[in-house]
Amino acid sequence: MGARGGIITLAALIIIGCQGSSSSSAPPVSAPPPVKLAQNRPVFSADSAYKYLEEVMKCGNRIPGTPEHKRCGDWLMEALRRRGASVYEQVGVYRGTPIHNIIASYGGDTVSPRILLSAHWDSRPHADQDPQNPQAPVPGANDDASGVAVLLEIGRLLQQRPLPYGVDIIFWDSEDLGKEGVSDSYCLGTQYWTENPAPYPPQRYRWGIHLDMVGGKNATFLQEGYSRQYAPLLVEQLWAVARQLGYERYFPPLAGEPITDDPYYLSSRGRVPMVNIIQRDPMGKGFFPEWHTTRDDISIIDKATLQAVGDVLIAFLYSFHPQTLAPL
Ligand SMILES: [Zn+2]
Repeated sequence: MGARGGIITLAALIIIGCQGSSSSSAPPVSAPPPVKLAQNRPVFSADSAYKYLEEVMKCGNRIPGTPEHKRCGDWLMEALRRRGASVYEQVGVYRGTPIHNIIASYGGDTVSPRILLSAHWDSRPHADQDPQNPQAPVPGANDDASGVAVLLEIGRLLQQRPLPYGVDIIFWDSEDLGKEGVSDSYCLGTQYWTENPAPYPPQRYRWGIHLDMVGGKNATFLQEGYSRQYAPLLVEQLWAVARQLGYERYFPPLAGEPITDDPYYLSSRGRVPMVNIIQRDPMGKGFFPEWHTTRDDISIIDKATLQAVGDVLIAFLYSFHPQTLAPL
């Protein structure tokens, strides 16, 4: 997706720093009360997620319209079916680009409410941030096979321990074909879906969570700007769960700048309030160091990060009611 500057993040850091040192006699800010997390929730396995990630990477580059992309799509649909999902393919063309969104439903057609969990499964054809090989494809291990792998593992757990509400895992296509500075050139799969929603209309979803670049070493997930705008309560709750699980290092309570990514289109055009969990450097250095280079391969994936993201999602999904965000 398109990158914007880190000014807001830096400003937030500076403000927090000033408050912390302005008065030594000020009472400490009281932490919010602990969230009541479900005790009997299933256990997310980073080893299992990593194996899914290896399988996705074995397909080759996931560039829309190529045989490798087709092979990967077939593998993903089969993997989701094996994990008990009803799988829908959304195939179309958007502004001349082929779209193949993959939707895996848990909980049956009539179950309400529903929530949406998503990642993008395509990979970028050109490593334009790579000084050595700008024309080579990006392997896309972190961007965004990592998000796909975490959601496949969550699908495995949903089959074992169904939730009392509907969950759709959607793998968006054609997210990463964009050109920097060209508006709406990224996220073609989500733009297509907001105009042709299937199999459910957007109104069926209470909210959603999107994962992008969730496997990098020492990743930080800032509270992305559009997420704070469109789904502020969900942001608060997710980051509170992360803190309670001891993952504040990965989920610092810092405001990040808005990022034009799939969730932006889902929130603004689709009217599904979305939170984007996306790696962003708190000091304004952008995404992850290997972003849109040929070095975004499986060697940069850290299971500890996959575990942190998976644990937060599972704790959240099994503890909160999607209608109210109150404990289930
Ligand atoms: Zn990307």
